[in-house]
Amino acid sequence: MNLNHLTIHEASRLLRSRQISSVELARTALDCARRLEDKLHALVTLTEELALNQARKADFRLRNGDATPLTGVPAVLKDNICTRGILTTCSSRMLQNFVPPYDATVMERLNSHGMVLIGKGNMDEFAMGSSNEHSAFGPTRNPWDLDRVPGGSSGGPAASVAAGEALYALGSDTGGSIRQPAGFCSVVGLKPTYGRVSRYGLVAFASSLDQIGPLARDVTDAALIMNAIACHDPRDSTSVRRPTPDYTQSLIPEIRGLRLGVPREYFVEGMEEGVKQAIQAAISRLEELGAIVEEVSLPSTKYGLSAYYIIAPSEASANLARYDGVKYGFSVQDAENMWDALEKTRQYGFGMEVKRRIMLGTYALSAGYYDAYYLKAQKVRTLIRREFNQAFERFDALITPTSPTVPFKIGEKMEDPMQMYLSDVCTLPVNIAGIPGISIPAGFVNELPVGMQILAKPFAEEMLLRIAFAFEQATPWHKRKPPI
Ligand code: GLN
Repeated sequence: MNLNHLTIHEASRLLRSRQISSVELARTALDCARRLEDKLHALVTLTEELALNQARKADFRLRNGDATPLTGVPAVLKDNICTRGILTTCSSRMLQNFVPPYDATVMERLNSHGMVLIGKGNMDEFAMGSSNEHSAFGPTRNPWDLDRVPGGSSGGPAASVAAGEALYALGSDTGGSIRQPAGFCSVVGLKPTYGRVSRYGLVAFASSLDQIGPLARDVTDAALIMNAIACHDPRDSTSVRRPTPDYTQSLIPEIRGLRLGVPREYFVEGMEEGVKQAIQAAISRLEELGAIVEEVSLPSTKYGLSAYYIIAPSEASANLARYDGVKYGFSVQDAENMWDALEKTRQYGFGMEVKRRIMLGTYALSAGYYDAYYLKAQKVRTLIRREFNQAFERFDALITPTSPTVPFKIGEKMEDPMQMYLSDVCTLPVNIAGIPGISIPAGFVNELPVGMQILAKPFAEEMLLRIAFAFEQATPWHKRKPPI
């Protein structure tokens, strides 16, 4: 039996019937990580000893019949999710020695299910990027082609799941950082509705956009993870007081009569022909399954990118002001005075992209510019949200590509931030509106993955899972494994 590519639900069945043990499963994952990490670099920290200890505990629970579907299943968490006693670096020099004194709520939740943590996933520094090349510790590579990027910023978590180092991962998504790498690595990535999953213990990038969500090998697994992590959390004032449904109830392969809109603005200029064809074929498949597909227009989409690159950097510039070398993190001691220390700490602690965002944000928020930039962007935000709301009066869901291209070559877009930013044109508006979105494997172009994005109205994750599940049942894409 090949344990490397089990889904959570398959593993859980084997674990509960005692055909395999959690220790065995953890060893397989750790061996895989040791074998691949030189090439892949999906992990910042490998938590080997912890994983084996947790696996032993999980085996004890499994023997006692005290297990949930996640008990004893190896996972990776993106390195911006706080884990008590375990390095949490955000792939930044600024936090390279930071060991949080507390767990993020999602970590607590997974722990209560008996998780086995294999390691912390590599990412673009502070989650700013779309390729993982902005990691201060070197890029993660795409398991489908090692010369290409895995996407970002949750590139490490996505690659680790695709390659077999973990059965699932949690990432964070501020403008596409779960969905775009999911698309690039051919796994399932779900960004929940803003407020559905607690952000407590997630190192903040842009607080009004950030959400934590699952990266998984199939849609059923994504539903199982959502069951575990979605909850109201009094420690996150933006988390909603709303009961968590049983997401596995939406796994019915039946979408006859559902109305799906295809927003024409998402087939942007510069989109690769192969991607377009793959998505069109996927849409035809949905039609064959009985969905009613119609084109729709969301004209404000074209302002999404500009609005995002005002709002996100503005919030980031405020959130990142805390890294002053005094309270925690990297600190330059060799300085003339306090201001000099502060300056040097930030100069050496932050990478190029993070500095670019801080500058963009402080500029947009500065007196005299606030109305022209930040306020204007907030107005655009309202427009975009309104357009989505109107679309959801007519449609049960919207279908788009996750990204306009297949995974690009390492180095290809590093010199041109604008090109890099454009890789998220299809995912950014979703965070701006706060709605949920999922990316699922939808085909290949020259052996490189293509992701399809499905969007629904706030708190309609169940609709996303239902459509995604029906599509998955009818297509072979999620079963393909990378050559690595
Ligand atoms: N690529 C986008 C950015 O760099 C989105 C990142 C994210 O979702 N964390 O801001």
